[in-house]
Amino acid sequence: MRKQIAAANWKMNLTLQQGEELLKGILANAKTLNENQQVIFAVPSPYLQAANTIVGETKNNFVAAQNIYSKKSGAYTGEVSVEMLQSLNIQFAVIGHSERREYFGESNTFLADKVNIALENNITPIFCCGEPLEVREAEGQNAFVAKQLEESLFHLSSEEIKKVVIAYEPIWAIGTGKTATSEQAQEIHQYLRSVIANKYGATTADEISILYGGSVKAANAKELFSQPDIDGGLVGGAALKVDEFVSIIDALN
Ligand code: PEP
Repeated sequence: MRKQIAAANWKMNLTLQQGEELLKGILANAKTLNENQQVIFAVPSPYLQAANTIVGETKNNFVAAQNIYSKKSGAYTGEVSVEMLQSLNIQFAVIGHSERREYFGESNTFLADKVNIALENNITPIFCCGEPLEVREAEGQNAFVAKQLEESLFHLSSEEIKKVVIAYEPIWAIGTGKTATSEQAQEIHQYLRSVIANKYGATTADEISILYGGSVKAANAKELFSQPDIDGGLVGGAALKVDEFVSIIDALN
């Protein structure tokens, strides 16, 4: 059975003290997770160690980096490597968030290199894909996201791709308060799974968690997560509030 995941993306928000308070508040109030559920906190790099200490031995809660670089080490000022994450016992990294693609020019092929170095070093990529508004309005979303998967993930073996978590995040729904309807989200998640199934077979496709991101909140999480091909959410704004994120965790199947 594939994992059901609530992932928080703090982006470039919060001081360390605010972050620690938020994390402690969520862990103190959230339900106990079962074997099939995970909660992942993608925190700013300077807070990775402190966050991991707080998450500590709690069951099925993890900390993620919001980004990694595609090289193991070297003269890449300001970047964060997978070796650094390993030395902190961090097991997850968000790769290809639309804000990285848009503001830092990250291409599908560059992201393929990041996926490779993550997997080679036992870091689970949370790989983001999703279309901008103009593509959705022209009904080109399926081809757009399929290309993102093909160019960044489809060089992987089936054993490798099974280790990737995919987050479908329509750019027009991120931070805008506009959520894809549960039908729209289910439709494209089902499509993404079918694209993976065509390449790797249905058994492999069935094992991959595909999260929805884009204005997920306490009020819509249950309905979104109850769709058959939606395996949880990647959450920005609502992950910065204890009550909201606790309710989102509660909505996991
Ligand atoms: C995100 O940061 O990936 C995101 C989906 O943000 P929000 O939930 O605020 O739309």
